[in-house]
Amino acid sequence: MYDALAGKAGLGKTEFLSRDQTLKYLPTALPRGLQGGVKYWDGQFNDAKLAMALARTAAARGALLVNYCRAENLLYDDSKVSGLVCQDTLTGTQYTIKTRCVVNATGVWVDELRQKDGAASGAGGKRATEPMVTPSQGVHMVVDRSFWTAMWR
Ligand SMILES: Cc1cc2nc3c(=O)[nH]c(=O)nc-3n(C[C@H](O)[C@H](O)[C@H](O)COP(=O)(O)OP(=O)(O)OC[C@H]3O[C@@H](n4cnc5c(N)ncnc54)[C@H](O)[C@@H]3O)c2cc1C
Repeated sequence: MYDALAGKAGLGKTEFLSRDQTLKYLPTALPRGLQGGVKYWDGQFNDAKLAMALARTAAARGALLVNYCRAENLLYDDSKVSGLVCQDTLTGTQYTIKTRCVVNATGVWVDELRQKDGAASGAGGKRATEPMVTPSQGVHMVVDRSFWTAMWR
């Protein structure tokens, strides 16, 4: 999937490795129970700079940027979402924002606001309260090449 998404910008092809091939690449890995591995390529970039570039672009196009501001609740006009109640999490001050459109882009926390919306629309309401997201976790470990040789000494 990564290869497909990367297209021509990909750094290299993903390969499934047999047990023996895996041990060839990682000679210090414990062979017991090892089934195989996957070799893939990854890139590094400065995500803080990307976030700043996005924020600046949005501001240059007329967006009002606010940070440390939590969307606490939705406002309704005739049961249609018409704005937000927000809280400045640094000062505790609450704000009411009226708007034509609210985009819930809260990532893995998306269901928190959706469930408030579902509750506000009542038990027989149309809005979904079923969770959309099942969070999962993975681990990225970056180690120096020398780590693999030093590890099992
Ligand atoms: C360790 C790790 C490594 C990853 N590596 C990669 C990678 O290499 N390549 C890749 O493509 N993806 C990677 N991902 C996945 C990628 O980071 C996410 O898919 C992506 O950030 C999701 O973007 P988003 O805008 O939907 O949500 P997010 O980036 O999570 O943004 C949601 C924002 O909403 C804010 N928020 C939440 N609730 C509220 C609220 N009530 N009011 C106001 N704001 C709120 C949060 O603070 C957050 O800033 C990685 C993720 C993790 C955790």
